[in-house]
Amino acid sequence: MNEYIYRPTPDGTIVVYRNGSELFRLRGEGLLWQSGNEYRRGTDSKSTPNSDMQPDSGILPDSDIRPDSDIRPDSDIRPDSDIRPESRRYIYNSVEITAVPAPENMLTLRFTSDPDAELGELACPYQVEPRADDILLIPHCEGFALPADSDVAGFPERLYAAGGGGLSMAYYGILRGGSWLLVAIITNRDAQLSIERSNKLLAPRVIWLAQKGRWGYARELRLVCGDGGISELCAAYRLIAAEKGLIKPFSERINENPLLGRLVGAANVWLWNDDAMDKLLYSERAQNTVPTSAQIERRLDVARDMLASGMERLLWSLFDEHTDAYEVDKIKRLGYLTSYYDIYTDVIPHDIAHLIPPTRVDRCQPRYDLWPDGVAVSRDGSLQRAWQLKGTDGRFYYQNRICDACALDCAAREAPAHRERTHIDGRFIDVSWVTSNECWSDRHPLTRSDAIEYKRRMLQMLREHNMVVGTEIGCEDGADLFDYSEGMLSPPFCRQYDAGRRMCSLYYNDEIEPRIHSVMLNPKLRAPLWELCYHGCVQSYWYWGDSSCCMPELTRLRDIFCRLYGQPGLYSFRVSDWPRLKPYILASYRATVPAATAVGFARMERFDVLDSERLIQRTRFSNGVEVVANFNQADAYYYRGQKIAPMSSELIFPE
Ligand SMILES: [Zn+2]
Repeated sequence: MNEYIYRPTPDGTIVVYRNGSELFRLRGEGLLWQSGNEYRRGTDSKSTPNSDMQPDSGILPDSDIRPDSDIRPDSDIRPDSDIRPESRRYIYNSVEITAVPAPENMLTLRFTSDPDAELGELACPYQVEPRADDILLIPHCEGFALPADSDVAGFPERLYAAGGGGLSMAYYGILRGGSWLLVAIITNRDAQLSIERSNKLLAPRVIWLAQKGRWGYARELRLVCGDGGISELCAAYRLIAAEKGLIKPFSERINENPLLGRLVGAANVWLWNDDAMDKLLYSERAQNTVPTSAQIERRLDVARDMLASGMERLLWSLFDEHTDAYEVDKIKRLGYLTSYYDIYTDVIPHDIAHLIPPTRVDRCQPRYDLWPDGVAVSRDGSLQRAWQLKGTDGRFYYQNRICDACALDCAAREAPAHRERTHIDGRFIDVSWVTSNECWSDRHPLTRSDAIEYKRRMLQMLREHNMVVGTEIGCEDGADLFDYSEGMLSPPFCRQYDAGRRMCSLYYNDEIEPRIHSVMLNPKLRAPLWELCYHGCVQSYWYWGDSSCCMPELTRLRDIFCRLYGQPGLYSFRVSDWPRLKPYILASYRATVPAATAVGFARMERFDVLDSERLIQRTRFSNGVEVVANFNQADAYYYRGQKIAPMSSELIFPE
């Protein structure tokens, strides 16, 4: 086992040594370091202040810097050979930074300032000097493993550190020469990760955001190093997630809600009436009609055909607000778990309601009265915007975003009563966990942290009513409270155009956008970082506009990812497409559901890349099951005497 030592140097640089040799160097630009009773500029030329690094509003004038006598005066710059770890204090734009090396290969960076100091944002002065052969781990949705010299078109430049649209988990990591460095954002609710470049190589930087325009509270990063690669880094992060109370395995959850026994490993079906897209959603001609009994029977016929074809383990997701106990009971009698689409973030502004198709106004009824008093307010006093709807004139109109505090009240009023009425087993809560917004309303002001607490209370409330709970993408700040997530496998930037409005579009040949191949389904870039922390706690699916069957020729490739990651498929399609999609969906079900069920309660302990092309990948679960995936187009791979055919995967059970 290698020995790692952190040395915060007087010039502001933090050097990580492995067995006495430099391994990582975190430049700390623009820092003043404590020397005796004063703070001075670093003497290393690398630490000259960089004006680009200044935040858009300074926090305190430099004159407020105070000497602190409890740190031993240290006016000597030690030679690099002296790598004794010791705590140091720095000043950066009037923020005091304390670097504390700790046992167990850790270093804590604590940032403190006057809580009332005004702030725009503060770019963290530390950035790891990248090397060309680094692999960067970014937990955006399921996760990416990016070579430092890669350039992934469309990859988000800023990732909010507590929202499914940004980082699903609050860290980034670097793999280098058989070791790794984890940079965990312990205080993640007012933070972002900025994906920058240094000498053309990827070099992330943490950004501290203001809390309601002020510094607010102490911020903390934790650096951890170790031997190995992705699996070891993720195991180290999982300890931090556990420390935060976010790890809650299905084996515990099932004691609170036995229905979860039917969720684990279940494929997810969104079956749409043929006129649903037009009637419910995106046509300016949308009519406000209740689904006919013929439509309901056709959907039930598909469900029965699925069961007769061997699809026994399904999460049956229902979208229509006219869903009633008749349909739900019929589905439940087939042995399927049922869930209902629900949303508490969007409300139609009353002043444009006359321009919106009546069917959308109807769908908004449970939330309609929250406008304008329950809408989240921006700092400038304006109402926050939400998802756009198509008006009767063919133009798109913004809805407004409901404040999380008001959303909780609304959900508490609506969801339990709806469950009583329809007998539905669970709820899929759209949008809520994609981001967290401050609210500057006088009546219901919220910090981002408050917003997350209200989101958590909503999930808690649903759980208390024994509902299985799903979320759109989601992030770990709610991972102990939601049971499944849609879209975790489908990062938004690499989905098909307008996937959020095309839940049952089918794409063939050159209709498939290049980024599906180059990013979404590229095993060289993707890594199951989320599974290495939360598998066996939360189930992950593709997005409904990026489903297992939306590109039938790629269903098999998607299934390889699902098997490797221990996840079932998601099928979103129109009733009339069932005959032509049935062979693909049945094959996908058979490929993914038994595999996902076999490892559904287990922790994912390892993810290993077995070849230099990154096309042979293996996962190992805590119940001993291994999955080996061969993403090669032509060559078979032999693993422990077993042949893994090109473009396939095998489950290997313990002997
Ligand atoms: Zn509010």
